Amino acid sequence: MDLKDRFFGAIMGSGIGDALGAPTEFCKEAEIPNLFGKRVVDYYSNRAFQLGEVTDDTQMMFCIARSLINSKDINLNEIADNFIYWYKKDGRGCGRLCRNAIKELKKGVPPTEAGYNAWLLTEKKSAGNGGVMRNACVPLFFMNDFDKLIKSTEDICKITHYDPRCVLSCKAHSVAMYALLHDKNPYDLVMANCSGIDTEFDEILNEAKNKKIIDYVLDEDNMGYTYLAILVGLSAIFNYDNFEEPIFDIVNKGGDADTNAAVAGGLLGAKYGINAIPKYLVEKFYNYDECLDIANKLYENHK
Ligand SMILES: [Mg+2]
Repeated sequence: MDLKDRFFGAIMGSGIGDALGAPTEFCKEAEIPNLFGKRVVDYYSNRAFQLGEVTDDTQMMFCIARSLINSKDINLNEIADNFIYWYKKDGRGCGRLCRNAIKELKKGVPPTEAGYNAWLLTEKKSAGNGGVMRNACVPLFFMNDFDKLIKSTEDICKITHYDPRCVLSCKAHSVAMYALLHDKNPYDLVMANCSGIDTEFDEILNEAKNKKIIDYVLDEDNMGYTYLAILVGLSAIFNYDNFEEPIFDIVNKGGDADTNAAVAGGLLGAKYGINAIPKYLVEKFYNYDECLDIANKLYENHK
């Protein structure tokens, strides 16, 4: 497959997953058929968002992508400034840990310390999915330099999400997407680079390999946990041969559906390319132009 198709698939897939999951976010799986009249297989308008519009997951990914494109390198201060600007201007859906880190950044705390300070406020307990949800542009930008990809992935995550589990989730996401972009086996590469660090993650990786999304419970109290998001994302690329089945399985599971579908959508888009995303979802996608522009610039930059 054309590499350009993978770039466009990763950015559009992440954004479209986010937009599809937004209406069922925080829903209980059992209540979704009643609330929507059937299984959800399309966009629904929802609270403060337009039909087919992305949420904080993709908006924060745009913040990172615009800085990578503008600086042609990693620039943590610029990414931090973009986060602050987005938070002031919009900020819809921003989680508590992320909000606290952005408040630190606004006070002038450097991006290398803001995430740690916010994590301390949670007594080093919070390991939310806010780092991994916005990561899709990072492996695209650094696809030609694996070591720099890993270091950059970790540093960008830590601006707001310092917990080692958040950092390892982002690393696994970057490694999996790197594998897909280079026609390598994502399971093997994630196994080689991310296992043996945390036994809980090793179990997640094993579970993702052997279990389809339909068999997971995603709507309980731990719905925003970073390992749940990467588990679902990896399961989507390990166990399915198309874009829409795993994405709609995720959306109809409720819980943190937009983030789970953004993580899986980016990986599935990189695996199967833009043409694997159903046309009706691409045509009605509210943020199509912005995603197209960013995917284009990331692709042009990589060459
Ligand atoms: Mg969101």
